[in-house]
Amino acid sequence: MYSIVLKYLLSSILRKVKNNLLPAILVTIWLLIPLCIHSQPPKDTLKLKIDLPLFDFPYQKKAMDAVGSGFFGSYANPSMSQSLAVSTGVYSSFHFGMKHFYENSNIRNRLVRRLIYDWGTLAGDLLLLYLPGGEAWLHEEYHRAVMSRHGANSFNGVNRFPVGSSIIAVSKVKDEDLMRIKEKSPSDMVRLHASGIEGQYLLINNLQRNNFFYDLQLNNQALYLISTFNSHLYIFMSTSPKFADKNMTKMNEKETTIASRDFTGFDFTAWAYERF
Ligand SMILES: [Zn+2]
Repeated sequence: MYSIVLKYLLSSILRKVKNNLLPAILVTIWLLIPLCIHSQPPKDTLKLKIDLPLFDFPYQKKAMDAVGSGFFGSYANPSMSQSLAVSTGVYSSFHFGMKHFYENSNIRNRLVRRLIYDWGTLAGDLLLLYLPGGEAWLHEEYHRAVMSRHGANSFNGVNRFPVGSSIIAVSKVKDEDLMRIKEKSPSDMVRLHASGIEGQYLLINNLQRNNFFYDLQLNNQALYLISTFNSHLYIFMSTSPKFADKNMTKMNEKETTIASRDFTGFDFTAWAYERF
């Protein structure tokens, strides 16, 4: 499951803004972050680097078995390296496009151009949370790749374009498959629950490495902040009985079938459980 914890945080801050000065200051800082994250404006170095591993064996053989519809069916359950490459390409392409706009726009007022560039990038990164190829999609694909490696099929909820949802599920996972993974490979059962966040940090790592080694100068900083902040809050909230219990009860009432049910619930509650 991927929990867009930032949404909870921002809505709770906004609820208190009317009565309290401190939350108002926090919101102001949050909105101004994009204006402060560059010490230098980007130079005219338009470059884009995209990789896409078409084949990843022996993983794809396992994915074929999990999906059960031949070789091309394996692309429905991409490997970790394939989904990571897709997400890196999606964010690099979007940030490249925004940089191209900034460097070539006819808008003369530099501040206006800069505001569109920074806040447009931030808005696009937030929207991409809900779209295939974005960070939440990658998070779920990392969970799914661990299951596919053991022949278990699943469905990524981001493929339904859940714009505005605070919780996104990996569904259509059979209990028998989870029992088999736990029996066959207890270590993978533990990794299964932490693998979503693993994908998020690898995305940041990939984008940072490309920026450094290829001097791309892409404006990835808002994504780094969103992803890291969200991951930290997700861990804190998974360990909060007040938050986790309330939301698990709601989910259990709503997700009554295997097809609709998330494979685990809060990742780090399950991660701690599977370790013992
Ligand atoms: Zn997850």
